Amino acid sequence: MHKSVFLEDTDAFSYREALASGESIVLIPVGSLEQHGPHLPLGTDTILSSRFAEGVARQLGALVAQPIAYGYKSQQKSGGGNHLSGTTSLDGTTLIGVVRNLVKSFLNQGVRHLVLMNGHFENYQFLYEGIDLALEDLGIKPGAAQSVLLLSYWDFVSQDTLAQVYPDGFPGWDIEHGGVLETSLMLHLEPARVAMDRLADGPAAVLPRFDRLPVVPDRTPASGCLSSAAGSSADKGSLLYKQVVEDLVADIVTELVLEPARAAVLQ
Ligand code: ZN
Ligand code: MN
Repeated sequence: MHKSVFLEDTDAFSYREALASGESIVLIPVGSLEQHGPHLPLGTDTILSSRFAEGVARQLGALVAQPIAYGYKSQQKSGGGNHLSGTTSLDGTTLIGVVRNLVKSFLNQGVRHLVLMNGHFENYQFLYEGIDLALEDLGIKPGAAQSVLLLSYWDFVSQDTLAQVYPDGFPGWDIEHGGVLETSLMLHLEPARVAMDRLADGPAAVLPRFDRLPVVPDRTPASGCLSSAAGSSADKGSLLYKQVVEDLVADIVTELVLEPARAAVLQ
């Protein structure tokens, strides 16, 4: 059995030992509670960001903190919209505040590097702002030893993988909500939490080039998904997961100049 990489399973003394090394890395998964159509659970974004964080942490000898399980409001053109039941969101200022508090707390405890692993499209700029304000609060300036990385996992999907996962053409990350990427990843990682017999097939949503507030609810397909998940498979999920974890690890190792043998030392 693997030693757990999750902070929730770690005792404070072992955690302090990791901090005392001066080289600790903590990943914070960030997701949402959001409708993902009839075939995927509301926690999909949180589940997937947590699984990516876990995969990366195992290879880096890093730790995974409790996820931020609620996200910024779902938007019609990227998540179907915040008007749909099941979607339960934070105001931007609230999310910024949560991130600011957590980043400050982890860095104050002596975590060397934090990695925010985003899994919900709408979160990104609010995470950026929360990190920026925390660093300002702490007086951490360019060139400091401590740092925070922010990323969304789908930005690590390679062109090669895209071509294999979407043989008929890639619809774009914004309308991937509840589509082939998330469904395939869930089929690979959490098959018991996917109901393929409930999948709603249909054409991709056609949305205007502007946002209108309040939203026009009819513009969101009845399924709540913006593109069809037909063609999803566990094999595609496995390909996606392995390639993305590999690229995440490679980028983080290079960026933070980590020793290759670090996983063996710290785990
Ligand atoms: Zn999602
Ligand atoms: Mn989302």
